[in-house]
Amino acid sequence: MTSERPLLVGGIDAGGTTFKCALAEPGGRLLETVRVPVTTPDETIAACLDFFRWELDARSARLGMLGIASFGPIDVDPASPDYGTLGATPKPGWCGTRISGRFFAGLGVPVVLDTDVNGALAGEIELGAAKGLRTAAYITIGTGIGAGVHGPGGYLGRPAHPELGHIRVERHPEDTAFAGTCRFHGGCLEGLASGTALIARHGDPALLAPEDAAWDIEAFYIAQACAALVLAARPERILLGGGVMQAAGLVPKVRAAFAELMNGYLGFSDAEIESLIQRPALGDNAGLIGAVTLARHALAQAAEAAG
Ligand code: ZN
Repeated sequence: MTSERPLLVGGIDAGGTTFKCALAEPGGRLLETVRVPVTTPDETIAACLDFFRWELDARSARLGMLGIASFGPIDVDPASPDYGTLGATPKPGWCGTRISGRFFAGLGVPVVLDTDVNGALAGEIELGAAKGLRTAAYITIGTGIGAGVHGPGGYLGRPAHPELGHIRVERHPEDTAFAGTCRFHGGCLEGLASGTALIARHGDPALLAPEDAAWDIEAFYIAQACAALVLAARPERILLGGGVMQAAGLVPKVRAAFAELMNGYLGFSDAEIESLIQRPALGDNAGLIGAVTLARHALAQAAEAAG
């Protein structure tokens, strides 16, 4: 009988180069994971579907909900006809792919989908560096810059999502010649502080010494994003993730620049700033744990709604 088969949840961290899939217990324990390289939509999605079908079959289990944390741009409005559909991504062949629709059709279970950064934030709130907090933000600084903000009532920016990467920032006095890399705004936050901007100015950022002035300029911009978030939304924690943030010593520089920008306003002590601005704790797994968390929460909500 169907109802006697164990109920599991699935998660997919749908990144631009790899789809990481996990099958998990409704309590969150991961049972099995797989990494699927991103090629064409057909091939990639079929490989993910195979994983879930095979694992469910092997365990005689059924799937209650699938959570997907996806790269973008993607429609995250459940009321939209294009929910879960990728927008103008530069990834060949993926523009217009109905990610949630394809998995719904393939597995026959409800799918909940959010941005990759909201997924990472969900994981960090569940198990990581924002555990137990009601309000937290996650800024990912990689090829581009994205942010997710969670408040007491859920994710901010619904039915879309914030676009913190494109706020205007004050220029660092020693960074006035660089035009910026954003094709819309030139020198917005993303245009000045993303990995793409660092490469355009300096080549491979991994080759920059920790004491290079480039990191002070970088910290100055990221600190402005933190200040904007604090002033607009007052998160209890801001997590700084993404490849750029792996640079040694960058987080302390951001904290120092933030303190200077705030200039005593709101009275943050050094210890409070250290608590406010942190690195994520889940590393490479945040997106996958986040996707599973999205599924678990949606399943719990559905059960509640069903009484
Ligand atoms: Zn921009």
